Amino acid sequence: MASIELQQIAHQYPSTSGEMPSYALNPLQQCWQDGGAYALLGPSGCGKTTLLNIISGLLQPSEGRVLFDNTNVTALGPEQRNIAQVFQFPVVYDTLSVADNLAFPLRNRGLGKAEIAARVKTVLDMLGLSARANVKARNLNADDKQKISLGRGLVRTDVNAILFDEPLTVIDPHLKWQLRTELKKIHQQFGHTMIYVTHDQTEALTFADKVIVMLAGSIVQIGTPQELFEHPAHTFVGRFIGSPGMNILPCEVQGTQILVGGSPVATTALTCAGLPGLELGVRPEFVTFSETGGVAATVTGIEDTGRHRIVRALVNDTKICGILREGESLPAAPRVLLDPARIKLYQHSHLLAGQVP
Ligand code: ADP
Ligand code: MG
Repeated sequence: MASIELQQIAHQYPSTSGEMPSYALNPLQQCWQDGGAYALLGPSGCGKTTLLNIISGLLQPSEGRVLFDNTNVTALGPEQRNIAQVFQFPVVYDTLSVADNLAFPLRNRGLGKAEIAARVKTVLDMLGLSARANVKARNLNADDKQKISLGRGLVRTDVNAILFDEPLTVIDPHLKWQLRTELKKIHQQFGHTMIYVTHDQTEALTFADKVIVMLAGSIVQIGTPQELFEHPAHTFVGRFIGSPGMNILPCEVQGTQILVGGSPVATTALTCAGLPGLELGVRPEFVTFSETGGVAATVTGIEDTGRHRIVRALVNDTKICGILREGESLPAAPRVLLDPARIKLYQHSHLLAGQVP
């Protein structure tokens, strides 16, 4: 187990076209605690794999240093850093049995027979593979092969960290939920530092204590799932987290009054009157519909999720979502009301300072 420090890390892949290469990862400075469960969350191409491979040692950063427990490991590979990594697609030895695939990393490290047998059994049970322990890996389906890959990542107890790069992508949805729960349990039981890469907010929010949200090669926010939901530091985080995501509406502030399309919607204690590029963020859970007050809206669709209905509407030309709970109905000419206590103000996509979570 180790704390992981990234000092002024940045990465540019070599350019193939002769142009100046752009940064896949912009300069960043981070320290992650020993034993934490972290998720790297962001859309495809935002630099998650690049960052993970720099941490594991598969990739040398073009700038900066990586420290494990204050020791510089920048020049070391994954083996020397003592990192286990699980990839998106199965990495298994087809000709070995399931149990031998799991025993392999342990034999490599010279563990005793009894200890290997015990560890392998634990992992086989954990992943529901015990009945097929002696089957050759090539006879397994893709889901089960990926389980072996996960098992190979989890079988060693002496690792500094276990890194997962979208490990459940190829797995059936039901099994996904089960394995995610299992991983969470393993983290609680063994307390390994775990870093889990995903583009799926549900995976990130259910697995991690701390979620690192990335966009275009930069970290835009690090927080607990609750912090990301209640206090997005960037409009991207607001939109990306939640289902549906946060509503973001252009607004202006006159004195203390927040106006959307000229209609007053709330007041603010921030001194931001007249600032350009202001936007207001409010989650659909805090948008209600009324005959009076608020701002006029044109309803464009209603979606029944079973638990509640999601109302989609346009305010001026901006899309907005609200929630209709059991027993609530939509007025004939609805206006949207925004809960003033739940409104966040952003300028050029960044949360204005001085707003309490
Ligand atoms: P993610 O894992 O979030 O999808 P990546 O870290 O794989 O993102 O990629 C970040 C950026 O770096 C992307 O623009 C991608 O095209 C580029 N990239 C990734 N790997 C390479 C590579 N080996 N050579 C050149 N560019 C790369
Ligand atoms: Mg990736």
